[in-house]
Amino acid sequence: SYATLADATFKDMLLNPELNRALGDAGFEHPSEVQNEAIPKALLGQDMIVQAKVTMNFFFLRIGSCGGCKKKKVIPRKSETFFSLLFFSPPYFFFKKKKKNFSGMGKTAVFVLAALNQITPETGVVDTLVICHTREMAFQVAGEFERFSKYMPGVITGVVYGGVPFPESKRVIAEEKPHILIGTPGRLVHLLEDGVLKLDKLKRFVVDECDNLLKELDMRKQVQHIFRQTPHNKQVMMFSATIDETARAVCRKFTKSPKEIFVDDKQLTLHGLQQHYVKLQEKDKNRKLNDLLDALDFNQVVIFVKSQLRAEQLNHLLAHCSFPSIFVHGKMKQEKRLEYFKAFKEYKHRILVATNLFGRGVDIEKVNIGMLI
Ligand code: ADP
Ligand code: MG
Repeated sequence: SYATLADATFKDMLLNPELNRALGDAGFEHPSEVQNEAIPKALLGQDMIVQAKVTMNFFFLRIGSCGGCKKKKVIPRKSETFFSLLFFSPPYFFFKKKKKNFSGMGKTAVFVLAALNQITPETGVVDTLVICHTREMAFQVAGEFERFSKYMPGVITGVVYGGVPFPESKRVIAEEKPHILIGTPGRLVHLLEDGVLKLDKLKRFVVDECDNLLKELDMRKQVQHIFRQTPHNKQVMMFSATIDETARAVCRKFTKSPKEIFVDDKQLTLHGLQQHYVKLQEKDKNRKLNDLLDALDFNQVVIFVKSQLRAEQLNHLLAHCSFPSIFVHGKMKQEKRLEYFKAFKEYKHRILVATNLFGRGVDIEKVNIGMLI
């Protein structure tokens, strides 16, 4: 069901043995389509703009929460059920993801493997910088670097983001001296201005979810500011699920004769993903939710709600019905948000109630049901 090319394996890519071992431990055997296209080029140090669309879970939920058909074009054409969902504008639906299905196209591994395969760690030199749109993503990407550099003890990964005290980020740079640095734009700018962070020997500049980062003027300025502190000669890789023409034009400004790789999701269209919806009155939602949680066989569930208040209320209600859950929302303190996110990822809780702050890109392996209520 995942877009794998039956014959290709990671072994064919002739990566370093340390990486092959880590890939084996992670259970990665066949590269996805985007990996197959992009990794060989990335290993050569080429600039690239990679777009691989995702049709999976979190995308759906957004459609409900943005309340209309605006995002129609990202919806798999074949899925009639899905179209009907839109027109019904249901107050409630859920879907179930079968095992062995992934929520993304595997773009992260493209830059993680490309960087780790090329790196020669030098003390105090940041070799690769990855800019992420949210703190959760930065944290997640750092986890992927840790996972794949497991057998490369000389490589240090550091992550910095806003919301934690600035001295802590300073410490990461000054004391841990990371070779791979992942961060959110604001904090990176701050660290550069403070003088603790130097990027004058950078070899790779990666922007994940670049459409999100570049579409807001503030963030775009921050990314440009960071970019200007890096040497002229370096590899630039930009990744996104969706890049429109305007964003692509901005991306091109960062790159030199980039390879542009587009993988779309035809093969991935909702195989193994079931969607259901239930049309209900507002007052019946909680009861139905309770029934469903009783009846469904789930590993972990994410329940998306439209407001912070609703998140709190639902969390309370679930506890009352003996479905202990945790909740996160945008106005929650940064440390708390990340703490909950980590705890959920580590399977310490089974149910997460969230506002749509958990956007695209967030991937939690054990989640097999998502709901929008
Ligand atoms: P994207 O950034 O394109 O949305 P991710 O890089 O986050 O996708 O990958 C989604 C999930 O798929 C992750 O859990 C990742 O570990 C897993 N994955 C990616 N590539 C492979 C592969 N070749 N084999 C097995 N799992 C993979
Ligand atoms: Mg991603």
